[in-house]
Amino acid sequence: MSAPDCIFCKIIRGEIPSRKVFEDKDIFAFHDINPLAPVHFMIIPKQHVASLADCDASHEGILGRILAAAPRLAREQGSTDGFRVIINAGRVGRQEVYHLHVHVIGGPDVLGPMLKRN
Ligand code: 5GP
Ligand code: ZN
Repeated sequence: MSAPDCIFCKIIRGEIPSRKVFEDKDIFAFHDINPLAPVHFMIIPKQHVASLADCDASHEGILGRILAAAPRLAREQGSTDGFRVIINAGRVGRQEVYHLHVHVIGGPDVLGPMLKRN
Protein backbone atom coordinates (compact mmCIF):
# COMPACT_ATOMS: atom_id res chain seq x y z
CA MET A 1 0.00 0.00 0.00
CA SER A 2 1.17 3.51 -0.88
CA ALA A 3 0.60 6.39 1.54
CA PRO A 4 -0.73 9.54 -0.20
CA ASP A 5 1.27 12.10 1.77
CA CYS A 6 4.52 10.16 2.38
CA ILE A 7 7.48 11.75 0.57
CA PHE A 8 9.18 8.43 -0.14
CA CYS A 9 5.92 6.97 -1.51
CA LYS A 10 5.79 10.08 -3.74
CA ILE A 11 9.36 9.36 -4.89
CA ILE A 12 8.38 5.75 -5.74
CA ARG A 13 5.33 7.03 -7.67
CA GLY A 14 7.55 9.53 -9.54
CA GLU A 15 5.71 12.55 -8.12
CA ILE A 16 8.94 13.81 -6.54
CA PRO A 17 12.09 13.43 -8.66
CA SER A 18 14.98 11.35 -7.38
CA ARG A 19 18.21 9.88 -8.68
CA LYS A 20 17.27 6.22 -8.92
CA VAL A 21 19.85 3.54 -8.18
CA PHE A 22 17.69 0.42 -8.61
CA GLU A 23 14.11 -0.75 -8.74
CA ASP A 24 12.36 -4.10 -8.83
CA LYS A 25 8.84 -5.16 -7.94
CA ASP A 26 9.44 -4.94 -4.20
CA ILE A 27 12.18 -2.38 -3.54
CA PHE A 28 13.38 1.02 -4.72
CA ALA A 29 16.84 2.54 -4.19
CA PHE A 30 17.80 6.20 -4.71
CA HIS A 31 20.56 8.62 -3.80
CA ASP A 32 20.16 10.61 -0.59
CA ILE A 33 19.56 14.30 -1.36
CA ASN A 34 22.06 15.26 1.35
CA PRO A 35 24.87 12.69 1.07
CA LEU A 36 27.11 12.07 4.06
CA ALA A 37 29.83 10.32 2.02
CA PRO A 38 30.75 9.83 -1.67
CA VAL A 39 28.33 6.89 -1.78
CA HIS A 40 25.05 7.45 0.07
CA PHE A 41 21.83 5.94 -1.17
CA MET A 42 18.76 4.49 0.49
CA ILE A 43 16.91 1.25 -0.16
CA ILE A 44 13.21 1.28 0.65
CA PRO A 45 10.26 -1.09 0.35
CA LYS A 46 7.72 -0.08 -2.30
CA GLN A 47 5.02 -0.94 0.21
CA HIS A 48 4.64 1.85 2.77
CA VAL A 49 6.12 0.64 6.07
CA ALA A 50 6.59 3.55 8.47
CA SER A 51 9.55 2.37 10.51
CA LEU A 52 11.73 -0.58 11.44
CA ALA A 53 10.26 0.06 14.88
CA ASP A 54 6.90 -1.17 13.48
CA CYS A 55 8.29 -4.32 11.88
CA ASP A 56 7.72 -7.88 13.00
CA ALA A 57 8.07 -11.37 11.56
CA SER A 58 5.64 -10.49 8.76
CA HIS A 59 8.30 -8.13 7.37
CA GLU A 60 11.11 -10.70 7.25
CA GLY A 61 10.80 -11.11 3.48
CA ILE A 62 11.06 -7.45 2.55
CA LEU A 63 13.78 -6.75 5.12
CA GLY A 64 15.78 -9.66 3.73
CA ARG A 65 15.38 -8.45 0.16
CA ILE A 66 16.52 -4.94 1.08
CA LEU A 67 19.62 -6.13 2.92
CA ALA A 68 20.48 -8.72 0.30
CA ALA A 69 20.47 -6.01 -2.40
CA ALA A 70 22.82 -3.72 -0.46
CA PRO A 71 26.24 -5.33 -1.25
CA ARG A 72 25.71 -5.45 -5.00
CA LEU A 73 24.28 -1.94 -5.20
CA ALA A 74 27.05 -0.59 -2.97
CA ARG A 75 29.71 -2.15 -5.23
CA GLU A 76 27.99 -0.80 -8.34
CA GLN A 77 27.98 2.69 -6.81
CA GLY A 78 31.73 2.52 -6.15
CA SER A 79 31.89 1.23 -2.61
CA THR A 80 34.05 -1.76 -3.52
CA ASP A 81 35.76 -2.42 -0.20
CA GLY A 82 32.90 -2.29 2.28
CA PHE A 83 30.19 0.08 3.37
CA ARG A 84 27.95 0.91 6.30
CA VAL A 85 24.23 0.29 6.66
CA ILE A 86 22.21 2.52 8.98
CA ILE A 87 18.53 2.31 9.87
CA ASN A 88 17.27 5.13 12.05
CA ALA A 89 14.12 3.98 13.84
CA GLY A 90 11.67 6.05 15.83
CA ARG A 91 12.21 9.05 18.11
CA VAL A 92 15.27 7.72 19.90
CA GLY A 93 16.82 6.67 16.58
CA ARG A 94 16.15 10.19 15.22
CA GLN A 95 14.21 8.90 12.24
CA GLU A 96 13.14 11.88 10.12
CA VAL A 97 11.21 10.31 7.27
CA TYR A 98 8.59 7.79 8.35
CA HIS A 99 8.89 5.38 5.46
CA LEU A 100 11.35 2.61 6.35
CA HIS A 101 14.70 3.24 4.65
CA VAL A 102 18.07 1.58 4.83
CA HIS A 103 20.96 4.00 4.33
CA VAL A 104 23.95 2.53 2.47
CA ILE A 105 27.00 4.73 3.01
CA GLY A 106 30.54 4.30 1.73
CA GLY A 107 33.03 5.25 -0.93
CA PRO A 108 36.77 4.78 -1.40
CA ASP A 109 37.81 5.96 2.06
CA VAL A 110 37.28 4.61 5.58
CA LEU A 111 34.25 6.23 7.22
CA GLY A 112 34.24 8.09 10.51
CA PRO A 113 33.27 6.46 13.79
CA MET A 114 29.86 4.82 13.93
CA LEU A 115 28.52 7.21 16.57
CA LYS A 116 29.91 10.01 18.63
CA ARG A 117 29.43 9.56 22.37
CA ASN A 118 26.58 11.65 23.78
P1 5GP B 1 16.45 9.56 8.42
O1 5GP B 1 17.04 10.63 9.30
O2 5GP B 1 14.95 9.52 8.50
O3 5GP B 1 17.10 8.21 8.62
O4 5GP B 1 16.89 9.94 6.95
C1 5GP B 1 16.10 10.58 6.03
C2 5GP B 1 17.01 10.86 4.86
O5 5GP B 1 16.20 11.21 3.75
C3 5GP B 1 17.98 12.02 5.09
O6 5GP B 1 19.31 11.54 4.94
C4 5GP B 1 17.60 13.03 4.01
O7 5GP B 1 18.72 13.67 3.44
C5 5GP B 1 16.86 12.18 3.00
N1 5GP B 1 15.81 12.89 2.29
C6 5GP B 1 14.82 13.65 2.83
N2 5GP B 1 14.01 14.12 1.86
C7 5GP B 1 14.51 13.64 0.68
C8 5GP B 1 14.09 13.79 -0.69
O8 5GP B 1 13.11 14.45 -1.02
N3 5GP B 1 14.86 13.16 -1.63
C9 5GP B 1 15.94 12.40 -1.30
N4 5GP B 1 16.62 11.82 -2.30
N5 5GP B 1 16.35 12.24 -0.02
C10 5GP B 1 15.64 12.85 0.95
ZN1 ZN C 1 5.66 5.81 2.26
